Amino acid sequence: IIRLESVCKIYGEFQALSGVDLVISKGEKVIICGPSGSGKSTLIRCINHIERHNRGRIVVNGMELTNNGKDIAAVRRDTGMVFQNFNLFPHLTILDNCCLAPMRVKGIGREKARELAIHFLHRVRIADQAGKYPSQLSGGQQQRAAIARALCMQPRIMLFDEPTSALDPEMVKEVLETMKSLASDGMTMLCVTHEMGFAREVADRIVFMDRGAIVEQSDPATFFSAPSTDRARDFLRMIL
Ligand code: ATP
Ligand code: MG
Repeated sequence: IIRLESVCKIYGEFQALSGVDLVISKGEKVIICGPSGSGKSTLIRCINHIERHNRGRIVVNGMELTNNGKDIAAVRRDTGMVFQNFNLFPHLTILDNCCLAPMRVKGIGREKARELAIHFLHRVRIADQAGKYPSQLSGGQQQRAAIARALCMQPRIMLFDEPTSALDPEMVKEVLETMKSLASDGMTMLCVTHEMGFAREVADRIVFMDRGAIVEQSDPATFFSAPSTDRARDFLRMIL
């Protein structure tokens, strides 16, 4: 469902991704980890074209991300993205945050969009907060709202970039529970996180990045007990 071939991304002089190959199949849960600055966010942002890659190929849902605006719009529609800092629209209620893209991008009517929004707000267990503004919610609730908003587009792939790292510890769990439940529904998920307990439980595969490249990838049991590179070993020693 996602295929990257020799993908490079250069910021000015700096090579943030240097020849990344990655294939993710439908329903797979892939966790990306690695040191700060290793290119994790860049990789995920290239997949829905928030950043444009400089070389190589990226194919998502059978569509190649070139500069064809139509395909890029289609890929964005099919990939939900959840950021570290929630990125909810502050001037809209939670309900309206959820209705906006389905109405604007998909042309769904207001009533139908509301129904969809309520459905997914129930799904993340904050339907009772629908009428509030983001600033009136806890961090954990805001992040669950952001997940519901992404789900309202009924994406085929969910991309997460450190969804819990801006949260107070007591709120991390509720967001991880929401993500676990999505995972068990069969959603294809690509997630940057340092929550290694979550990774161990949910991931089909762990991808370890360092200096713009994938250094190692394996199933969680292997990765945690017997990483095959020194760099992964050092990283694990630092965070565990
Ligand atoms: P972190 O764990 O800190 O979030 P990361 O693995 O997500 O790190 P990226 O955000 O992908 O790392 O950044 C990779 C490298 O590219 C970093 O060295 C960063 O400074 C650089 N970089 C990222 N975005 C830009 C940009 N817009 N312009 C210039 N350099 C950038
Ligand atoms: Mg990052």
